[in-house]
Amino acid sequence: MEHIENDDQFGGLTVNQGVAQPPVVNPYLRARRRRVLPSAGELVEGILKGDITTLARAVTLVESLSPDHQAIAQEVIEKCLPHSGKSRRIGITGVPGAGKSTSIDVFGLHVLRRGGKLAVLAIDPSSERTKGSILGDKTRMEKLSVHPDAFIRPSPSAGSLGGVARKTRETIVLCEAAGFNNIFVETVGVGQSETAVHSMVDFFLLIQLAGTGDELQGIKRGIMEMADGIVINKADGDNIQRAQLAQTQFRSALHLFPPTASGWSPEVLTYSGYFELGIPEVWDMIDRYFAFVDANGYFERKRSEQARYWMYETIDEQLRANFYNNPEIEHMLTEREARVLSNRQSSFTAARDILDHYFGNKL
Ligand code: GDP
Repeated sequence: MEHIENDDQFGGLTVNQGVAQPPVVNPYLRARRRRVLPSAGELVEGILKGDITTLARAVTLVESLSPDHQAIAQEVIEKCLPHSGKSRRIGITGVPGAGKSTSIDVFGLHVLRRGGKLAVLAIDPSSERTKGSILGDKTRMEKLSVHPDAFIRPSPSAGSLGGVARKTRETIVLCEAAGFNNIFVETVGVGQSETAVHSMVDFFLLIQLAGTGDELQGIKRGIMEMADGIVINKADGDNIQRAQLAQTQFRSALHLFPPTASGWSPEVLTYSGYFELGIPEVWDMIDRYFAFVDANGYFERKRSEQARYWMYETIDEQLRANFYNNPEIEHMLTEREARVLSNRQSSFTAARDILDHYFGNKL
């Protein structure tokens, strides 16, 4: 091409012939950058074969907030459901420092010695605030994290407790379809997350510590009432006697509770996760529980009740999310809240206005 700028009258300025755009050096680069989503069919096939990488990918989609991911995830869950259910789901709770991770590591190895596979999941509603969950963190479970038959997954960080719990519940389905016949769901023993865990497990284990003699005071009665087994950890060294004293106190406290729906009488045992003392005894108790509830039909009944519970929970959660994530509603909430706070409108009429607006648009 001729460039008039190269004429003598434009002294000092030279424009060179351009160089054509070189061809793509690595034609695969572009393709690799745009990650193709796997199809639901591919994921299900991998999961049913027990492929851990596929399982992990599917769980990531379950946890994702993107509608595209959710669509695939829901299809995968639906297809995995007929292959799920064949596992022992055990909830494990205890305050931070009670020894949950140490114990899960040794309980897990004990279970795996008997064969089968173990998934360790977690529910930590604070994980969004703290940017990452401390529960279900692989580094906390040294032996399990390198075990080929263990799958450890930290708590999903999906905002509300309802959202986090639903995702964990869905992950259980995928793990079971992948052949995991033991599921542990860990939660921190301080609040509402126990109720969520309780509603998705068959056996609920409460890890306690022997303390200064007033250990019963710090525990919410509701959590104790949910427990099918209470185990007092760190029964080692100088602590053995105190652990035994705590055991007696817990046993007498449990006598005051109403009979459980399962008909099972919760047991109280002492053990040491760190020194691996009393582990088989804890597991014998859990075996006895499963034999008991299998025989009296409670196992099946509880699973059906849980399925119903999760149907309603999912409806509640999705309605709530739909409402609060609606931009118009968000705007209205801010505005009405200001009015309510400055006494310009009552809480009830403000709520009614917002709901009327929402349902007016919806129905
Ligand atoms: P988590 O916060 O409930 O997961 O508790 P960890 O498993 O991290 O344990 C908290 C601390 O207690 C750690 O320093 C453990 O080493 C210690 N620990 C856990 N189990 C035992 C035990 O059986 N005996 C003793 N003496 N210490 C333990």
